[in-house]
Amino acid sequence: MGSRVVDTHVTTPAYILFIFVDGIGLGPANASTNPFAARTYHGMEALAGGQPLTMEAGSISELNHVFHGIDATLGMDGLPQSGTGQATLFTGRNAAQLAGQHYGPYPPIATHASIAEANLFRQLSTQRALPIDRLAFANAYPPPFFSYAESRNRWTVTTRCCRDAGVRIRTMDDLRAGEALSAELTNRSLVEKLGIDCPIVSEEEAARRLVDLAQRHVFTLFEYYLTDKAGHAQDTARAEDVVRSLDRFVGTLLETVDLTRTLLILTSDHGNLEDLGTRGHTRNPVPFVALGAGASAMASVRSLMDVVPALLAIPTKAVGAAHAPAGASS
Ligand SMILES: [Zn+2]
Repeated sequence: MGSRVVDTHVTTPAYILFIFVDGIGLGPANASTNPFAARTYHGMEALAGGQPLTMEAGSISELNHVFHGIDATLGMDGLPQSGTGQATLFTGRNAAQLAGQHYGPYPPIATHASIAEANLFRQLSTQRALPIDRLAFANAYPPPFFSYAESRNRWTVTTRCCRDAGVRIRTMDDLRAGEALSAELTNRSLVEKLGIDCPIVSEEEAARRLVDLAQRHVFTLFEYYLTDKAGHAQDTARAEDVVRSLDRFVGTLLETVDLTRTLLILTSDHGNLEDLGTRGHTRNPVPFVALGAGASAMASVRSLMDVVPALLAIPTKAVGAAHAPAGASS
């Protein structure tokens, strides 16, 4: 049961920007296998009030800043996986329990009905009576992604949420128009490996584009997963490259986004990258960050299951306020 303490001082967001980072947990600061502890990353560390993202980082519970570790094990034995972890994170329902086990990377069939009914896009649009185009999934996918997913009906959790809720999945046309981001931020492998005709952009430019997109939608989700891939690869240099890239992105995001009107959420589905000593995922807690307007309303989040209920409990007028001219909302 979530508490329903009414805090009249909570500022209400006009925009919610949700950054989902696959496979980052909070590991020990003294472990040589933890890339988050090896170097200073100013952008990432700002998420934790200037502390490295490790197990030892102190919790923050302020009006406009919440940071602490949350449970990703979902009350089940074994290593958490992306399919059930993300299905839980984006529905508020325990998908590992529904499936009887952790499962991934795609969501198991046992979770499909739950994703269709309860995904965050659908719940937000229904509860707030919002047209679905007020909600955005910022990632753009190349043609091979669609042909693979369609031929096997194997959609990732986020793209399944979009399809079920009617949220448009962005394409290379959106990416070229600056109206989307690639999951790798820079578009480099789209250009160099897939031969896609689109500009390579910096992490800083990707961050500015995401902020721009978020300011035109009530709710915007972005998914980053190179962290999980780098964790599986157990390659320290590659892991540090990925964290450095993400750090530049997050640093610019924090400089650019208007946190007096935006609630920025960042969290993960399970640990992985924080322990390069193991190829698989970890049972470590994952970082949960809420920054900006309405952040304190997210202070009660303790596990992947709690994120959607907490977001939906943010006062209605808050999330509808994007329709009002600046200054018109109370
Ligand atoms: Zn993984």
